[in-house]
Amino acid sequence: MAPPRTTDSRLESLAALAAWFWGNVDRTRDCWLWRGSGGYGRVYLGGGHRAPLQISPHRLAWMLTAGSIPEGLVICHACDVPNCVRLSHLFLGTQRDNIRDAARKGRLIPPRGERNGRAKLSEAQAQMISGDIARGLRTGVIAARYDISPPVVSMIRHGQRWKHIRKGARTA
Ligand SMILES: [Zn+2]
Repeated sequence: MAPPRTTDSRLESLAALAAWFWGNVDRTRDCWLWRGSGGYGRVYLGGGHRAPLQISPHRLAWMLTAGSIPEGLVICHACDVPNCVRLSHLFLGTQRDNIRDAARKGRLIPPRGERNGRAKLSEAQAQMISGDIARGLRTGVIAARYDISPPVVSMIRHGQRWKHIRKGARTA
């Protein structure tokens, strides 16, 4: 099902947009997962590959239900599931909150420049990756999320031991 058309960058029908958006959400008993076009992590509005507007599904969900997002603030996930759009799992925060939240959950990843061939995954990150695997995220998605090579994700997926994971990270 294609997203509603937009003209002049304005949404013709907010109701149609909301109906389309929520129609592409899987409401599990816990998280509500965005499954619509654009796939993981993005919503493309306006149709086709040259869609004029792209937005994160959780930001769109917030705007459709809670209202506009103040400038400079971000929508954080209490559940830590990136494509979850359930309002009760989302909270408004600063980018700083988001980073602090990430650190608390053990998924803070060093900036790209600090990583090199000797970089290791922390045990907490490995556990997060295992959680993502258990939630059914694809290897490529997980690799991109943690900026690691897909074979490292595959090793975790196939239950290889932690020392092998670290070895794989070093040589990736
Ligand atoms: Zn959730």
